[in-house]
Amino acid sequence: MAEFDVDLFVIGGGSGGVRAARIAAGYGARVMIAEEYRMGGTCVIRGCVPKKLFVIGSHFRHELEDAAGFGWTVPPATFDWPTLIANKDKEIARLEAAYTTNVEKSGAQIVKSRAVIEDKHTVRLLADDRKITAKYILIATGGAPNHGAAIHGIEHVISSNEAFHLKKLPKRIVIQGGGYIALEFAGIFAGFGSDVTVIYRGDNILRGFDEDVRAHVRSEMEKQGITILTGCTVNKVDRHVDRDGEEFTTHLSNGSSLASDQVMFAIGRHPAVANLGLENAGVAINPKNGGIAVDHFSRSSVDSIYAIGDVTHRFNLTPVAIREGHAFADTVFGKRTVQVDHSTIPTAVFSQPEVGTVGLTETEARAQFSHVDIYKTTFRPIKATMSGRDTRVLMKLVVDGATDRVLGCHIVGDAAAEVTQVVAIAVKMKATKADFDATIALHPTAAEELVTMRTPTARHVRQAAE
Ligand code: FAD
Ligand code: NDP
Repeated sequence: MAEFDVDLFVIGGGSGGVRAARIAAGYGARVMIAEEYRMGGTCVIRGCVPKKLFVIGSHFRHELEDAAGFGWTVPPATFDWPTLIANKDKEIARLEAAYTTNVEKSGAQIVKSRAVIEDKHTVRLLADDRKITAKYILIATGGAPNHGAAIHGIEHVISSNEAFHLKKLPKRIVIQGGGYIALEFAGIFAGFGSDVTVIYRGDNILRGFDEDVRAHVRSEMEKQGITILTGCTVNKVDRHVDRDGEEFTTHLSNGSSLASDQVMFAIGRHPAVANLGLENAGVAINPKNGGIAVDHFSRSSVDSIYAIGDVTHRFNLTPVAIREGHAFADTVFGKRTVQVDHSTIPTAVFSQPEVGTVGLTETEARAQFSHVDIYKTTFRPIKATMSGRDTRVLMKLVVDGATDRVLGCHIVGDAAAEVTQVVAIAVKMKATKADFDATIALHPTAAEELVTMRTPTARHVRQAAE
């Protein structure tokens, strides 16, 4: 009789857990995977995918407006939120089913239950109080939205989870946060016609991104009518109900207040480590970020327990969770040791306009390299010349002046994410600025600017004494 019920027990059927389960099963491992909510996890059910569908849907407003300059007469367009939600739900249900089928096809067994760790080789399924022993346990439980301090009225505040299921489109919405989710939803709601106010505690949105990107996105969003209030936080939310429905008053730390039909916080996410039984097995938490502490192979402080994806709070992105899950399965079951390279991860913010970025920001490069050349341009995209839209694209390359290597690429504008995915290959391959220059432009595109910027717009040379 086998020593354990299964070779691998995966807790969490999201991006990382599903990949690990499928690859491990492919190597012949006996795999069980527990999911307490819906197969597919955050990305598929209430993250990347429905978000992108919303972004695409909301963008039609701009398309309809822009069409007039090209000769189109578009009758006054109306938008129906319930149709959007129903069609999005249908697509998400289809994807959930596809995820389930693909896991089952791989030979892994799905259990719909919350799972908690009993000891270093045992998991308990809360649905039927069953205990399963496993040679290895993989924790892939993801994360959940932060709600912030327990301010007055916090129970009225929604997160991205609820934003995907609102019964109606809010006429006015206040969104606290200046990161990915806040800005993506600001663009979504504004596109569908809501009056949007973003509240951010710092001096400018998108902390950690290149300074030029931060300034450019903010000014473009403001041009679209989104109000961005910086240097303040939400102190209190009051709810009022009258014949017309409910309304909220959001009180800010600067003494002002705002009326709206919805208040949303997008102030980060925390790793899902609570009530998981980590203490039963002695799994250590990383004190720096609150996620499960792991080594380069995603192994926790307990040799039979691994953790991948958002629960480790390293880089909370779907492709990273997937790569970590795959590397885990290769290493533990595939007889080939694979370590994930977390450097040079491309990322996009699907705000409107979109941000695509890979590699170092100018600030990071100047801190690490003694000679940094900047190639930067902003220009009116060809579509805007006829649509009349007041918008500009930003493209920026950060180059090591000593070796000519392109250290970073930052784009704000249409298709920034698509372009960045491809530029990321060149940056990852350590392409030089000369390689970019040697590439013939593809005309007429916005991306051709990346290979036609000839003269540095700034040169930063650190003197030896600095
Ligand atoms: P998850 O996908 O969160 O999966 C964890 C799963 O574990 C969940 O299904 C959960 O129900 C389950 N679970 C938790 N505890 C238990 C338990 N004890 N027992 C059983 N099951 C359990 N990333 C991108 O790269 N691009 C994007 O455009 C993007 N957009 C996003 C938009 C939003 C609104 C959000 C919230 C996130 C977005 N992300 C995006 C981030 C991305 O969704 C995550 O990085 C990714 O889903 C992490 O995968 P994971 O496998 O670590 O966890
Ligand atoms: P982010 O970390 O991107 O942004 C959080 C924002 O909330 C920051 O502006 C932060 O400010 C602010 N904030 C944090 N704590 C507080 C507080 N207590 N009070 C007021 N403001 C606060 O997190 P998100 O929630 O937007 O998204 C979570 C993660 O999900 C992202 O970091 C990303 O990894 C992933 N994601 C990826 C997407 C993509 O790839 N397109 C899309 C959506 C999510 P400050 O900067 O000052 O700390």
